[in-house]
Amino acid sequence: MSKTIFERIIGREIAADIIYEDDLVVAFRDIKPQAPVHALLVPKKPIPRIAEATPEDHRVLGHLLLKAAEVAAKLGLRNGYRLVINNGPDGGESVPHLHCHILGGRPMGWPPG
Ligand code: AMP
Repeated sequence: MSKTIFERIIGREIAADIIYEDDLVVAFRDIKPQAPVHALLVPKKPIPRIAEATPEDHRVLGHLLLKAAEVAAKLGLRNGYRLVINNGPDGGESVPHLHCHILGGRPMGWPPG
């Protein structure tokens, strides 16, 4: 299996604007921001998408959500933000490596497009 672009970022094979990293996750700014603040939080384990996570991933998934809130605070999103996980073609997933979008800096619409 070839590496995803996010594995290459995690491995420092390609550059990214990294905001946070620990042993389980890495956060970096989205290359094509959809809001004034747009970051991605990615588990280092290459889980393709949330539908393919297993019970043994519960620690990393819990960690991902807790760190999403921490990274949002670090990015100064005091007035709120949106977390998004796209899953599969209808979900708008384009990179098959689980990631949580952190979007903020403007009011978010609902329903999403
Ligand atoms: P998704 O459509 O949910 O799979 O989101 C993938 C996201 O990855 C998109 O918002 C892209 O703009 C972003 N992206 C793709 N390549 C890079 C990259 N090299 N650095 C940062 N973000 C990227």
